Amino acid sequence: MASLATGISAAFGAAAGLGLVAGGWFYASRWPASRLFGEALTAPARSGELALTFDDGPNPAWTPKLLDLLAHHGVQATFFLLGSFAQAEPELVRRIAAAGHLIGNHTWSHPHLSSTPAAKVHEELARTNEALEQIVGAKVRYFRPPFGARRPVVFRIARELGLTPVLWNAMTSDWSEPSAERVAARLAAKIDKLTQRGRAVNLVLHDGNHREREGKRGPSVTAAEQLIRRYESTHRFVMVDAWQ
Ligand SMILES: [Zn+2]
Repeated sequence: MASLATGISAAFGAAAGLGLVAGGWFYASRWPASRLFGEALTAPARSGELALTFDDGPNPAWTPKLLDLLAHHGVQATFFLLGSFAQAEPELVRRIAAAGHLIGNHTWSHPHLSSTPAAKVHEELARTNEALEQIVGAKVRYFRPPFGARRPVVFRIARELGLTPVLWNAMTSDWSEPSAERVAARLAAKIDKLTQRGRAVNLVLHDGNHREREGKRGPSVTAAEQLIRRYESTHRFVMVDAWQ
């Protein structure tokens, strides 16, 4: 039988824990660099490493151009693909994998996971894993939540499916900015700041548009090339699996 003192202590500990979680939620749900919910991968303390990551593809209009320029510069990147788009473009997915890039899960239909029922979250992730694994013949190990939304149950389900959640620490609104120069300049400022602080850079651009499979992504692809040219002599381009 537990003593009264032990019971009080346990109750106090639980209440203190709840306070921490409630207070932390505000911070963690808004800042991608937060690791409060545990074991999400952002970027380690390794100055000079830069992971280019591309979300919302595959996009038959723009992903091939991006693959050409990455090959031209000898850079490998991480692609977080939508399962529904991947199923429609299996040859393009195979081309991404054959070039040595890392493929991750970005859900089937790009829902807001902060308000999606747990069973639906599981279906979104599991269905995408199955489609990607069937297309490329390799296990998918990384997952990026759409909109950066996350809550403990999302990360738990991802872990159960063998997926490491991946966030980011450098992003701008490349999906709505018509000027590649402005996209590149804003991201360069973030890269420089992170590098000065001794941190690796986990940078997001969008080669796809979750609302439109062939959405225009010229500024994002051009900005990627400008950033590669700017940093290829000072930074080492890595894929996110280099950090695990
Ligand atoms: Zn997305």
